[in-house]
Amino acid sequence: MALEFDPACTFCRIVAGTIPSAGIYADDAVFAFRDRNPVAPVHVLVVPRQHIPGINSPLAQDGVLLSSLIRVANQIAGSEGIAGSGYRLLWNVGPDAGQSVFHLHLHLIGGRPLGWPPG
Ligand code: 5GP
Ligand code: ZN
Repeated sequence: MALEFDPACTFCRIVAGTIPSAGIYADDAVFAFRDRNPVAPVHVLVVPRQHIPGINSPLAQDGVLLSSLIRVANQIAGSEGIAGSGYRLLWNVGPDAGQSVFHLHLHLIGGRPLGWPPG
């Protein structure tokens, strides 16, 4: 059973508006805001309103929700002016990837050439 709101979760509180953020998109299911420690000129986090711990959670396997997150990220890439220059969409999972917040979030990163392989 999904927790609709976890009061201990930073991103639940951002979605609820009790922690301020630079929000740039909102609908019934999805919220997007600028990362507070951007690694590139554009660094946006696209999250479900619902508390889901990560992309490896069974709750994250909802195709409708996933396609909404991806659609919003691509749309923001366009509005941020990086659709043509390119960008990266990524999910961090677990310690080796450095996941630090356990509320599902899709990173949209761009606005400069991005190295490959990543660090
Ligand atoms: P992760 O490493 O879990 O994939 O990414 C978590 C991201 O959330 C990090 O890039 C971090 O800078 C960002 N972040 C953590 N806390 C906050 C916050 O309170 N506000 C904002 N805007 N970003 C946050
Ligand atoms: Zn949460």
